[in-house]
Amino acid sequence: MRRRAIRREAGEAVIELAGRSVGYLLKRSSARRTLALRVTDSGGVQVNAPLALSHGHIEAFLLRHAGWLTEQLARRAVAHTWQSGVELPYLGGVLRLEIHEGSAGQVLDREGDCLNCTAEPALAVMAWYRRQALELLGSRLAALCRGQGRIEPPWRVSNARTRWGSLSPKGEVGLSWRLVKASPAEIDYVICHELAHFRRRDHSAAFWREVERLCPGYASARARLRENGHRYLEF
Ligand SMILES: [Zn+2]
Repeated sequence: MRRRAIRREAGEAVIELAGRSVGYLLKRSSARRTLALRVTDSGGVQVNAPLALSHGHIEAFLLRHAGWLTEQLARRAVAHTWQSGVELPYLGGVLRLEIHEGSAGQVLDREGDCLNCTAEPALAVMAWYRRQALELLGSRLAALCRGQGRIEPPWRVSNARTRWGSLSPKGEVGLSWRLVKASPAEIDYVICHELAHFRRRDHSAAFWREVERLCPGYASARARLRENGHRYLEF
């Protein structure tokens, strides 16, 4: 008797829990019959589900366990507290936050791997990241388009937590500013993913061949992004 091949799917999803967006890795398998939920040491949320289970069922399951989940996340949320010494992911490495109490304004500058902040660190840091995103993602998009001999499409920095990149029906590329927390290889993969959508709007095998053509060896960057994505979503 031939055994049926096990089919698997994985992807990032987001749910609103107690007024907060919680990103999680959804892993589906045809071999699975029940739902399972776990939080990794680094605060990543993972849900294992049967392949065909509806998204509504999965969300209801998460809502039923919302209390447990938010408690688990709070326990691991040290990185969310904005205090001196906290490490902020940036371009695949980390920047250390240094808060200088007592100084006025929201001035923020970078010295090596140190990010100096004077007030309201959360807002100042996020604004700083957005500025870096505008510059870094823009120059990577331009360089990749040049390398591929194509005209650079219009693009914008997005605030998306649910996806790293998007391509609008009108051909505008959207890139989440949070992507500058990822490594250059992960950033290039996301940009090439969106550029590949100009040729194929779906996620068919032909689409992934196009991604491979534009970004050879993309699979490892894609896997790393899946693994690290929850860290980039912490703020
Ligand atoms: Zn896509």
